[in-house]
Amino acid sequence: MSEAWVCSTCGETHQEIPFSFAADFPDPVASFSREEFENRVVAGSDQCILDGKNFFLRGLIEIPILGQDEPFLWGVWVTLWERDFDEISDCWEEAGREDHHGPFKGRIANKMGMVPDPFNLPVTVRLQRVGQRPVFFVDDPSHPLFLQQKNGISLQVARQISSMVLHGRIVTFEEGSHPILE
Ligand SMILES: [Zn+2]
Repeated sequence: MSEAWVCSTCGETHQEIPFSFAADFPDPVASFSREEFENRVVAGSDQCILDGKNFFLRGLIEIPILGQDEPFLWGVWVTLWERDFDEISDCWEEAGREDHHGPFKGRIANKMGMVPDPFNLPVTVRLQRVGQRPVFFVDDPSHPLFLQQKNGISLQVARQISSMVLHGRIVTFEEGSHPILE
């Protein structure tokens, strides 16, 4: 998506407008000091455990962009049951895992810089082929992400969302799925 675009937030022309954003960690551990992190968190690139009793998995919320091959991607963490976390860990390198394990239930563990706040929103977790991150499907039809995931968003809306994130703005959705531009 390297096509130049006049930004809806700052009015400047941007050469690059990314359609992929990711949280490095689940919010409950993201603000820990280094010492606290080392004492309380066990984290890999895709899994994270807090205090030995809170289990997090990294994955993707895919939002189709109408007329485009690639979706808008939100890289987020979900919290899930220990037994599901263990099952997913056990089959992580297993060919065909996507056909034999899950789906699972989880809850989003990031605020995603978004209003309405998606933290704790229930999702269905679907494993993908080995080497691909799990995909999360928003279960709550009252959250705009649900409709966006179901119906897709226009290229214009994708660019508006991206520009808000890039400029550190809270991405605020009205009822339905369109961002509110100030
Ligand atoms: Zn801008």
